[in-house]
Amino acid sequence: MAAQIINGKEISKKIRSEIAKEVDELKKLNVIPGLAVILVGNNQASRTYVKSKQKACQELGMHSLLFEYPETIEESELLNKIEELNHDDTIHGILVQLPLPEHINEVKVIEAISPDKDVDGFHPINIGRMMTGQDAFLPCTPYGIMVLLKEMGIDAAGKNVVVIGRSNIVGKPSGQLFLNENATVTYCHSKTKDLKAHTKKADILVSAVGKANFITADFIKEGAVVIDVGINRNEDGKLCGDVAFEEAKEIAGYITPVPGGVGPMTITMLMYNTLKAAKKFQPALQKTK
Ligand code: NDP
Repeated sequence: MAAQIINGKEISKKIRSEIAKEVDELKKLNVIPGLAVILVGNNQASRTYVKSKQKACQELGMHSLLFEYPETIEESELLNKIEELNHDDTIHGILVQLPLPEHINEVKVIEAISPDKDVDGFHPINIGRMMTGQDAFLPCTPYGIMVLLKEMGIDAAGKNVVVIGRSNIVGKPSGQLFLNENATVTYCHSKTKDLKAHTKKADILVSAVGKANFITADFIKEGAVVIDVGINRNEDGKLCGDVAFEEAKEIAGYITPVPGGVGPMTITMLMYNTLKAAKKFQPALQKTK
């Protein structure tokens, strides 16, 4: 039987309408959730992502600011801007679009963002809070995956979850969030021996590799939940994930398509985090930092 398709577009729409309602409520208290996005250089993909984030802010009635800098910007100038935004009461979330040019230390930039405005959830304080199960800003893509499963009524507790990929923004935090949900988690990566032996045992398989057609049907356990995080182009230049969707959907129980699966959730969770930051915002506390 063909898999049930996890429609990230629809789920995202539903969550965004809930966010919009909360934004309206906050506005009655004279708080407009505000997101500042910093974009460095001319990376076309980054530019597209930033545009989508700004559009989402507008659609949900949030305030958004874009700061664009040339590739040659000094690290100190960037750090100064972040410091200024840390103290700006109209801004509740700060996002620095990655990647940054090589002469800029990404770690230093991420750590300069106030953990209370770190709506990407990349600051070590938020990562530590996530790992210890405390309230935190969760990284948007992994968070989006968890919300997709929740909306589909899929409980991860006790399940074998295999995450392929161990990046700081997708792979590692995805596994951690599944662990927080009481799953048994295995991480696979480029040095993993016999990948298929692991993936065939997965009740939930998350692929965050970045290679088209990397996961074929023979890697998937019958009835498994397949979450495809990859964003790739196939030979025809069309957008596709890591999973060979047409054959995988014949064996999986649930599957996310690309596009229209995990992708829309990433920006939705960014909006959710910005709303959360605005709700928690306490100007007096910010000013003493
Ligand atoms: P990275 O390149 O940082 O990580 C890729 C991971 O895949 C690495 O951990 C690497 O292992 C692993 N890998 C590479 N080759 C193999 C292999 N042959 N077998 C097993 N593992 C392998 O990518 P990201 O985590 O940033 O992104 C992953 C994908 O997700 C990309 O396509 C990206 O575009 C997409 N993405 C999608 C988002 C969305 O909103 N849908 C958001 C963010 C990313 P090793 O660590 O050993 O090198």
